[in-house]
Amino acid sequence: MCRSSVILFYGLWVKTWSLAFAAHAHEKIQPPLLALDLLIARRRSGKLVVEEQDLQTTARDLPEEVWELIKQETIDEAIHQEEEEAFELYRCPSCKFALGKNWETALDKDPFFGINGKKRKAEAWTDWRDPRCHECTTWIWRWHGDFAWQRRRAAVERMAALLAGFGLRVASKSTLCTNAEQSPRFDELSGLALPLQSSSESHNPAVDVNLRGDQHERHESAVLELSPTAIALPSNAELRFRRLISTYQLEPEDPTSSTITTNTLLPLDPSGATQSASESQDGAFRKDEPRWMLRVHAEADW
Ligand SMILES: [Zn+2]
Repeated sequence: MCRSSVILFYGLWVKTWSLAFAAHAHEKIQPPLLALDLLIARRRSGKLVVEEQDLQTTARDLPEEVWELIKQETIDEAIHQEEEEAFELYRCPSCKFALGKNWETALDKDPFFGINGKKRKAEAWTDWRDPRCHECTTWIWRWHGDFAWQRRRAAVERMAALLAGFGLRVASKSTLCTNAEQSPRFDELSGLALPLQSSSESHNPAVDVNLRGDQHERHESAVLELSPTAIALPSNAELRFRRLISTYQLEPEDPTSSTITTNTLLPLDPSGATQSASESQDGAFRKDEPRWMLRVHAEADW
C-alpha cells in the first residue's frame, strides 16, 4: 500500500520536541495559570480582595506587568523542568557521569554500556538544539528506538489543548524531518496551522490517495476545491503564532525548498524583461513567519 497526502495550510514549522515540552508544561501548570488569570482579571476590574496586612504594598498594588512576569516565569520554569526530565530519560550514562548526575541508575539498565570517564562536562549533551553526543544517539536508539513525541494519544491531546488556546492546531498528524536518514529524529518538525475544515471531514482537510499497487491499479487521484473564506485570514493570524512562540519558547524552523510566486504582477525592467526569480525572492519569509504552504507526504508499507 502507498499513501499520499497533500495539505494546504497557513502556518509555520517548529521542532517537535519544543512543542512536546511546551504542551506537557502547559498541562501541568493549568491550575496556577488559571489562578493568575483570575487574579489579573479581578485586579483589572477593581474586584481583587486582599487580606489586611502590615506591609504597605499588597497584591492589589502590584502592577499588571508584574503578574504577567510571574505568569511567564511559571511557564518558563515548567518548560525547563520538561527539558530536564527528557534529558534524564534520554541522556547516556557517560554524559550523566560527566555532569555529575545519577549515572548508576542509567547503567543498571544496560551494565554493558561502558562509561566514558574521559568525557568532559563541556562535551555532554545539555542543549536540545545541539545533540552533540554520539553515545547519547546510540543510547536513545538502543532503549527507545526513536523519540515518540507525537505517537502517544495523550501527547497529541496535550498539543491540541495548548494550540487551541491560541486559535491554532497541528497542520497534520504526520511530522517532517528534512534529514530522512537521521535517527533518532532530533530535527523532527511539526506544522502549526490556522484551523480549516472540510465539508466531508472534520479534521484538517487533505487530498489523500491510497494505492495498493496491484497490477491493474497503477494510479489514483483526488481533487478538493477551496472556498474563498478558507483563505481569508483572520486579522490576528500572525499575532496568534507570535504569542504562542514567544510565550512557550517554541523553536521555529523552515523546511521549505522553494517559493511559488507569480511574475505577472512584477514590473518590467527597461529592457522589457521581467525580474528574475532570485530578485523576486528578496522578501523571503522568516522561519517564525506564518505563510501559506503546500505540504506533501507519502509513505509505503510494503
Ligand atoms: Zn551522551
